[in-house]
Amino acid sequence: MNLQTLIYGEVEFSIDQEYLGFRYKFVTLMMVAGALLTGIFVLATLGNIDPIGEKHLRSMIFFTLSSLTCWFMLRGHPERFLIIAWVYELLSLWEDASSLMFVPSDELRILWFYVNVPGTFILLGKWPGWAVTVGTVLGLAFGNPYLDQPYSANAMGTALLGLLYLGVFSHAYVNRTMSYFSRMRDYNVQLQELATHDALTGVLNARAYYADCQQLIQLSQRSNQLFAVLFVDLDHFKNINDTHGHAAGDEVLRVVAQTLQQHVRRSDVLGRIGGEEFSIFLPDTDLEGALQLAENLRHSIESIDVVLADVHLKITASIGVAIKTYQHQTIKTIQQQADEAMYQAKKEGRNRVSYLQERSNPIG
Ligand code: GH3
Ligand code: MG
Ligand code: MG
Repeated sequence: MNLQTLIYGEVEFSIDQEYLGFRYKFVTLMMVAGALLTGIFVLATLGNIDPIGEKHLRSMIFFTLSSLTCWFMLRGHPERFLIIAWVYELLSLWEDASSLMFVPSDELRILWFYVNVPGTFILLGKWPGWAVTVGTVLGLAFGNPYLDQPYSANAMGTALLGLLYLGVFSHAYVNRTMSYFSRMRDYNVQLQELATHDALTGVLNARAYYADCQQLIQLSQRSNQLFAVLFVDLDHFKNINDTHGHAAGDEVLRVVAQTLQQHVRRSDVLGRIGGEEFSIFLPDTDLEGALQLAENLRHSIESIDVVLADVHLKITASIGVAIKTYQHQTIKTIQQQADEAMYQAKKEGRNRVSYLQERSNPIG
C-alpha cells in the first residue's frame, strides 16, 4: 500500500467529481496534519517542554483524538464528506477558542481563527464560509472583555477587520476556483463524449466499443458466462449514397443506429465500427438468445421507413452471429467470427442472419 492509499483510502472520483475530490483530499490532509501537530504539542506538554496549562492540554488531546476519528470515518467514504467536514470545522473552532481562552500567555493565539477562514470557504463553500467568518468576528468582539487578558480595542479592531478582509478574499478565490472546476468538468465531459462516441449516430465509436467489450469479456471470464457478438452490415448501402446522395445515407445510418439502440438491452454494447457497419456485444447471452435478437433486429431494420422527397427507402441488413467459443477469447477473434458469418449472410442473398456452426464449438 502506498502513502496516498494509506492517507486517502481506496477512493476514485469520476470526471464530474473533481471539486469533491480536491476537497476530500484537502480535508483529509488537514485532519492528519492537524492531529500530528497537536499530537506533538501534547507530547511536548506532557514532557514539560512547553507548558500550556491543563485545560488547553485536555482540548488538544480531545482535538487530536477526534481528528483521527473523523479521518477514520471519512477515509474511503467521500459520500460522508459534507457531514464530516462540518464536524471537523466545529472541532477546529473549538480548538481555536480553547487556545484563546486558556493560553493567555500566547498573544498571537488569535491567528488560529485566520487559518480557519480560507479552509472553511474551500471545504464548505461561500455561505458556510461567511457564517463562520461573521460568527468568529462577533464571538471575538463580544467575548474579548471576558478573556483573562483581553486585547486592546485597537488590537481587536485590527484583528476583526483583518478577518473580514480574509473573508472577502476567500469568497473571491472560491468563486473563481469553483467556476474553473465546473468549466473543466464540462469540458472533460464533452471531451470524453467526443472521444468515445461517433459524431453521426451518437453510438460508441470503434475504439470505445472494443475497449468496453474487452472489459466485459474479462468480467465474463471471471464469472464463466457466455457472451455473443452480432455484426450488422447494411445491404447495398452504397446504392443509397449513389442514388439519393450522401446526406440521405447519413440519415439512414442515424435511423438504423437508433433502431438498434432501441432493441438491445441496457447491458448490451452497441458500436459503429465502420462506415455502415455496427457491432453489438451481448454479455451473458447464449446462441439461441443471440440468434433471436439478430432476427429481431433484421426485421426491425427491414421495417424502417425512411421517406426522402416522397421516396420510401428500403433498408436491409445482413447480420453475422458469433458466440464465445473458448475460455480466453479476445474481442478481436470473436469479432472475426461474426464478420465471417456476416459475409456468409451476404453470399446467401443478404437481408438475413447467419451463424457459422462448423467454425464454433461453444463452451460455457
Ligand atoms: P454490401 O451489401 O455488400 O454490404 O454492399 P454495400 O454497398 O453496403 O458495401 P460497401 O462496403 O461497398 O459500401 C459501404 C458504403 O458506405 C461505402 C461508403 O461510401 C458508405 N459510407 C461509409 N461511411 C459513410 C458515412 O458516414 N455516411 C454515408 N452516407 N455513407 C458512408
Ligand atoms: Mg461494409
Ligand atoms: Mg454493406
